[in-house]
Amino acid sequence: MSATAVQNWAGALTYRASAIRHPESVEEIQALVRGAQRFKALGTRHAFSDAADTEGVLICTDQLIGMSPVDPNRGVVEFGSGVTYGALCRSLHEQRYVVRNLASLPHISIAGACATGTHGSGIRNGNLATAVRGLQMVTASGDRIEIGPEDSEFQGAVVNLGALGIVTRVTLEVVPDFDVRQVVYETLPFKALEDNFEAVLSAGYSVSLFTSWNGDEFEQVWVKLVGEAAADDLFGARRADAQRHPLPGMPADYCTTQMNEPGPAYERLPHFKMEFTPSSGDELQSEWLVPLGRGIDALRAIRGIAGNLAPAIHVSEIRTVASDDLWMSPSFGRASLCIHFTWKKQPDLVRRLVPRVEAALAPFGPRPHWGKIFALRADELRKSYPRFDDFVSLARRLDPAHKLCNDFLTRSLGL
Ligand SMILES: Cc1cc2nc3c(=O)[nH]c(=O)nc-3n(C[C@H](O)[C@H](O)[C@H](O)COP(=O)(O)OP(=O)(O)OC[C@H]3O[C@@H](n4cnc5c(N)ncnc54)[C@H](O)[C@@H]3O)c2cc1C
Repeated sequence: MSATAVQNWAGALTYRASAIRHPESVEEIQALVRGAQRFKALGTRHAFSDAADTEGVLICTDQLIGMSPVDPNRGVVEFGSGVTYGALCRSLHEQRYVVRNLASLPHISIAGACATGTHGSGIRNGNLATAVRGLQMVTASGDRIEIGPEDSEFQGAVVNLGALGIVTRVTLEVVPDFDVRQVVYETLPFKALEDNFEAVLSAGYSVSLFTSWNGDEFEQVWVKLVGEAAADDLFGARRADAQRHPLPGMPADYCTTQMNEPGPAYERLPHFKMEFTPSSGDELQSEWLVPLGRGIDALRAIRGIAGNLAPAIHVSEIRTVASDDLWMSPSFGRASLCIHFTWKKQPDLVRRLVPRVEAALAPFGPRPHWGKIFALRADELRKSYPRFDDFVSLARRLDPAHKLCNDFLTRSLGL
């Protein structure tokens, strides 16, 4: 099938690929790779950046969906790289396991999410890639490699930006299933966050603050609780009296159950249910991670330009991620505050605003989400990633003929 009409989830990017293939086996992938001058892995197409774009062959993993049962001795599960968090978690739940954390939506492929450093929230929760315990990959030569924590380059291979090959199988750490309750609070003054920054962000297992930047407040605070009781009041914000959607006017039943009702973690940690379109659907997204310790100053800097941003924004979400050791992870070596923007689908306007956000955040060493829209380029990014050059060397060694290169990797890594 020609790929000329294949677009990303947002419908804002048409992949330039000459063909899209849906191989059913690793051998088929090896043959495709060996026969291609350029190729790229494609997961569930949810990236807003052009990370998955190629002028060659798009190798979509949607047929690689086999799952093994959980290995209870090692506390891991192994599965094909096209498996989504939604599908994996349903199977894990039947076996009484779950993953430690999830992003706002379950619709995304696990390999694609890990490749871009996708995250949920929680002061003590690493991003989703920190659960990876092994990868099997077809490299640009068509060879199969297996890489695990015992390998010195494992930490470079997990958040891989699609630059190292096609991940075909993933091994993930799992934990015994647990229940989560979700409570939404409304109208947290900005001042209350300034005065109680750590306390607000650690008010639950996972905390998300939502603001339209139209006033001096966070309109909603979503707190996901494990065990602890839900307070009636969160530093002045009051508990919502009904189910809420983060975007005004959107149906609240698209969202996972709130109102403090307990349920399996995989049905509470994402904001959006598997069976509905997450978020607005008519949108673009950007996100930058800054050191948590400088988070409130970074938010003040954004507040300083909010008047310019607000008309272009559906909503902004503020989350946290724990520090990790994955070379290209935006939370490498630093506990992070994540400042996310769900933009209205106005690509030209977003392209103009993104550099303004990056300029405002510059004093804080912002690291962009690889799967969302950003303007920072390789020379600037190199400064905030201590293992940047190691990753570039790894990519060059595994892909000496630049078969996996695309504009995204050239701009972001200088590849
Ligand atoms: C509505 C919505 C909500 C979102 N919410 C969140 C959120 O809560 N938190 C967050 O951090 N992000 C979020 N994202 C961003 C999203 O998680 C990332 O863009 C993620 O990369 C999507 O995975 P995918 O499989 O769709 O990737 P794709 O867009 O298919 O690909 C992205 C990159 O991964 C690479 N890749 C994919 N599969 C493989 C493979 N098998 N082997 C090697 N490389 C591969 C591609 O080559 C490309 O470089 C959201 C996106 C949307 C659309």
